[in-house]
Amino acid sequence: MTPNKEDYLKIIYELGGTEKKINNKEIVKRLGVSAASVSEMMSKLLKEGYIERLPYQGVELNEKGLRKASTLIRKHRLWEVFLVENLGYSWNEVHAEAEVLEHVSSIELTNRLENYLNSPKICPHGGMIPGENGMLKEPLLETLVEQKENQKVRIKRVADEKDLLDYLVSIGIKINDVCTIDSIGAYEGSIVVEKEQKKIQISFKAASDIYVQVI
Ligand SMILES: [Zn+2]
Repeated sequence: MTPNKEDYLKIIYELGGTEKKINNKEIVKRLGVSAASVSEMMSKLLKEGYIERLPYQGVELNEKGLRKASTLIRKHRLWEVFLVENLGYSWNEVHAEAEVLEHVSSIELTNRLENYLNSPKICPHGGMIPGENGMLKEPLLETLVEQKENQKVRIKRVADEKDLLDYLVSIGIKINDVCTIDSIGAYEGSIVVEKEQKKIQISFKAASDIYVQVI
């Protein structure tokens, strides 16, 4: 599937493009498309007024771009909730389905879906679901790698990436788990947490994509 305009806006958002400049290289890496396709799309998005660009620094979403990305992510996350709650999917299986559904859902369908689900505020991965015309603004959370030993935390959100989710399922970590940091390996080593008297080892890479609330 070739990523379209909306996918690019979504990726810029996910890479942090409301707070910092995102360069083409990061987008190439994330979408697995050629550098030429990315720069072509960036010129298009710039012309249509969704992004701002600074030479040698990269692009940033402006208000119009963020509004568009918010609408798409709203659809994506509502479908994820539906699939988990009603069709028995687990949180590592819903991403691909939601990627397709988000592009074919009208505003009316999305609003009815939201009503049907009793207006959920977060997706199965802990991401915020904006209301109709709402803007995405994820609360700032620390990651697992920023914690100190013996700190107790609740897992609030994880990056919505298939490989990461498969990994978390395999080691038994999920949203709303409460755990205590047992040890932190030196030089980006793995983090060991204790959950329900069981020790679980989490790689540094995964732990940097796990957002927690200190409790
Ligand atoms: Zn999600």
